[in-house]
Amino acid sequence: MYLSLGNKKESVSFKEALFKGLASDKSLYYPVEVKKLDDDFWKNFKKMDTFSLAYNVLKGYINSEIPKENLFDIIKKTLDFKFPTVLVDKNIYSLELFHGPTMAFKDVGAKFMSACMDYFIKNQNLNQKITVVVATSGDTGGAVANGFLDIEGVDVVILYPKGKVSEIQELQLTTLGNNISALEVDGYFDKCQQMVKKTFVDRDLNQKLLTSANSINVARWIPQILYYFIAYRNLNKKNSNLVVSVPSGNFGNLCAGMLAKKMGLPINHFIASTNENDTVPKFMKTGEYKKQETISTLTNAMDVGDPSNFIRILNLYNDDFKKLKKELTAYKFSDKETILGIKRLYEKSKYVLDPHGATAYLGLKKYKATNPKSIGVFLETAHPIKFLDTVENALNMKISIPENILELKKKRKSKIGIKNYEQLKNFLLSR
Ligand SMILES: *Cc1c(COP(=O)(O)O)cnc(C)c1O
Repeated sequence: MYLSLGNKKESVSFKEALFKGLASDKSLYYPVEVKKLDDDFWKNFKKMDTFSLAYNVLKGYINSEIPKENLFDIIKKTLDFKFPTVLVDKNIYSLELFHGPTMAFKDVGAKFMSACMDYFIKNQNLNQKITVVVATSGDTGGAVANGFLDIEGVDVVILYPKGKVSEIQELQLTTLGNNISALEVDGYFDKCQQMVKKTFVDRDLNQKLLTSANSINVARWIPQILYYFIAYRNLNKKNSNLVVSVPSGNFGNLCAGMLAKKMGLPINHFIASTNENDTVPKFMKTGEYKKQETISTLTNAMDVGDPSNFIRILNLYNDDFKKLKKELTAYKFSDKETILGIKRLYEKSKYVLDPHGATAYLGLKKYKATNPKSIGVFLETAHPIKFLDTVENALNMKISIPENILELKKKRKSKIGIKNYEQLKNFLLSR
C-alpha cells in the first residue's frame, strides 16, 4: 500500500505507515498506487454530501484496513466544521480552512490521524503505549495537541522553536497538559524536524513505539486531498481553468492537491507561494534542489528551508522537471509584500487575510496578471486572529478576539526548554 521513497522496496500497510511515521531507511512513505476515481464517482459528485465525498476519495488509501462504518465515523469526527469558499476579488476565491478547533487547516490532518490511531488501538488490542513526536513551525503543535488530547494509549511530545511561534500558537500547544508535553527548542523549525527524524533511527529508543504527526505521516498528509475536492465542488462551476494557490512551507498541502489532480480532479495549474524561504521557487528556476538555512519571517508556519514533502512531489512527477514546470509555478514574497497584500485586499473588499493566506492570494494575483481568464482559489490556511499583531499592524486597526481565544489567554503555559538532541532523548527515555 505504501512504499518507502528511499529504497522503493519496503512496502507497508496504512496501519504500519501510520504507526511508524517514517520508513526504516528514514525516508517518507508514498502510496504505491494513486488510482483515478471512476465514472460513478463523478456522476454522483454533485449529489454527495461532504462525508460521502470524503469517504469515496479516501477509501483507496486505507483499503479495507478500517471497515466502512468505522471509516465513516472517523470522517464525520474529522470534518465537523465548515469549509466555505468566499469570493474576495475578481475571479478569486478564498477557501477558508480555519474553522476548526485550532483555527488552522492542520486540524483536518491531526483529527483524522488521531481518530485512526484511536481506532487501531481500541480494536486491535495494541497494549504498548505509543509516543507521537512532532515538530512544529507554529500550527501543527496546536492541531496535534487538540487532536490527540486524552486519546488513551498515546503520549504526545511537541517540539517548537523558541520565540518563533505566535502567542496564540504557543498557548494552543502548551496549555492542554495531560498526555501532551511541549518542548521549547533553542533553534529553528528545521532543527526541531531533524531532531524528530533522528529519534526514529536511534537504537536506544528502539523499544519505544515512536511515530510522527507531521505531514511526513501519511495519515496527516493524505486527508488534505479533500480540500481540493471541496473547493471544486463549492465553486459548482464547469470550468476548465481552475488554478489553486497554496501557501507552502513543508509542501504537504500542495502535494496533497497534486494527488487530487492525479485522481482526476480538474485543476489546471498550481501555484506554490513561499516566503523568503524560497528553496522551491529557486528549484523551479534552476532544476537544482539546494536546501537552505531557515529564515525567520512573519509567516512562521512556512519557515522551512528544506521541505520534507518536496520529494513526494518529485516522485509524483517521476522527476520530470518539464512536466512539473507545466503544472506548477512558484513565487516567493517578502514580509513587506505580504503586509501590503493584507492591506490591499482589505481596502478592496474588506476581507481580512492572515499572512499565510496573503502570500497565496499574492501568488494568484501574480499568476493571473498573465493568465487573466483563470478562476483562482487560494487556500486560507489560518484564521487572521492567530497572527493578531501582524494583521493589526498591517490594517492599522484592532480586530475583535473570539471568546475561545480569550479563554485560552487565561490558561497557564507549561513547557520544558531543550537545546540539543541528547536532551530530547533523555526526555523520551524518562517516560
Ligand atoms: C503549516 C502551514 C502552512 C504550510 O503548509 P505545508 O503543508 O507545510 O506546506 C501554511 N499556512 C499555515 C497557516 C500553516 O499552518
